[in-house]
Amino acid sequence: MSDKPLRLVPLGGLGEVGKNMMVVEYGHDILVIDTGIMFPENDMLGIDYIIPDFGYLKDKVDRVRGIVITHGHEDHTGAIHHILEDIPAPIYATALTRGLIEVKLQRAGLLKDARLHTVQAGDTVRLGPFRVEFFHVCHSIPDGVGLAIDTPAGLVVHSGDFKFDHTPVDGWPTDFGKLAELGQRGVLALMADSTNAERPGWTPSEAVIDPAFDDVFRAAPGRILIGTFASLISRIQQAARAAARHDRVLSLVGTSMVDNVRIARQLGYLTIPDGLLIPLDEALKMKPQRVALMCTGTQGEPSSILGRLSTATNRQFDLLPDDTVVLSSHPIPGNEETVHRTINRLLQRGANVIYDAIAPVHVSGHASQEEMKLLMQLIRPQYFVPVHGELRHLKMHASLAHSIGIPAERTAVVENGMVLEFREGKMQAGERIPGGYVFVDGRGVGDVGPEVMRERESLARDGFVLVNLRLNPKTGKLAGEPEIHTRGFVHAPDAEELLQAARQKVRELGGGSENGLPEKIERELGKLFYAETKRRPMVLVFTSSSGS
Ligand SMILES: [Zn+2]
Ligand SMILES: [Zn+2]
Repeated sequence: MSDKPLRLVPLGGLGEVGKNMMVVEYGHDILVIDTGIMFPENDMLGIDYIIPDFGYLKDKVDRVRGIVITHGHEDHTGAIHHILEDIPAPIYATALTRGLIEVKLQRAGLLKDARLHTVQAGDTVRLGPFRVEFFHVCHSIPDGVGLAIDTPAGLVVHSGDFKFDHTPVDGWPTDFGKLAELGQRGVLALMADSTNAERPGWTPSEAVIDPAFDDVFRAAPGRILIGTFASLISRIQQAARAAARHDRVLSLVGTSMVDNVRIARQLGYLTIPDGLLIPLDEALKMKPQRVALMCTGTQGEPSSILGRLSTATNRQFDLLPDDTVVLSSHPIPGNEETVHRTINRLLQRGANVIYDAIAPVHVSGHASQEEMKLLMQLIRPQYFVPVHGELRHLKMHASLAHSIGIPAERTAVVENGMVLEFREGKMQAGERIPGGYVFVDGRGVGDVGPEVMRERESLARDGFVLVNLRLNPKTGKLAGEPEIHTRGFVHAPDAEELLQAARQKVRELGGGSENGLPEKIERELGKLFYAETKRRPMVLVFTSSSGS
């Protein structure tokens, strides 16, 4: 036993679906698990994605022994280049995960200096006081791993994203034997994927998708457009096999899809014969009933291929009358509204749309309740920490733990930034550190704060009012008539009365020569507009000196 505490510091993924990042700390040494991003919710205007707040690590850079990545999904890998810029620690990942990470590092110009190490399930790596053993888990992307981390304070197990699929697409089920062995060794703490904690029973095997795809392929009169995540490599494999069975060619639409498939094929994780996969421009010239297209955009992102097709703004090609669109994915929590809008628009534009509510064209990559219980039974941890989920998922996962005999006081439902400490085999709450959002907007990281988000929201909701004032340079008083323009607030001809009142208010205020006139006008007009319309447009006042 050790005298130093073992600390778990969740920086992302606890209390949300996305941007997973967990820090394991023992004494002076630190291990980082995953570096994910989260996609913005509807109300986060203009934000590309969100990365974890890893400020906690910035003064501890020399203490980070390694960054371990469990699998190649964006919510585990997407922030790797942001993290690596500040924390140039060695990265450990399986071959496919590494391949997908390399693409990101290459784009960010960081690949040359990155220290990447390939591991495979069964390997053990020593990183300072941590002995990290990788074990295979099934998920919706091949080559996913869970982690058994041996520390002087005890053994910690992290499930990674997992399910117990007996017939996975790549034929490689979760390593039950290893899980049982870990349970026998004695596990201090288990951290496990909570995504589907509300879902009873077992998650169906990926194998159920094959017959569903067969039905779609048999019935489709024209082209088939299959939408999924570019990182759902297993689904791309299933689509390729379905295309081969039904004598269609497959073509990839979108850079991320093309890049990921190239890497996965090179590394042997995707088997697609050359003749089956053809370039898009060739596919577009073929008879529609011979073509299947693989595209991104199942979350309703307006700039994605399916998003653009739904609004008739895709440049390379448009929907055809007999097209069948298959959404082989499920909305990420928060995206439901946009996804449904995209489905409606695609239907409106004449496509036949098939999604998981009407046919089993998607199964989850995450364990359901019975699998979660089985994992806990096999591992039999002293302490249980649900991870990877919104608070309701974490709570539900904790109550599943209670149902199989893990007492409440040995379960820790914590959110980002709430540190857990293990001292002499006992768990206690540590300090609270920042665990919020860092917005990435175009090329800017973290320069869009909550203040800017509030301004964008207000602009989108209530529009703005622009007031142009000319001031007498000598007296500082208003000279001439104020000009008032509005955008997105009121329709000018209908609101002439309101704008008259606003001009009158400006004239009254502009009669005095006090300082801070623009601010005063912004404030007073804000009040006037709210009183009259119950809306709060952004009021901007510009002043210029009158030439006279
Ligand atoms: Zn995943
Ligand atoms: Zn995940």
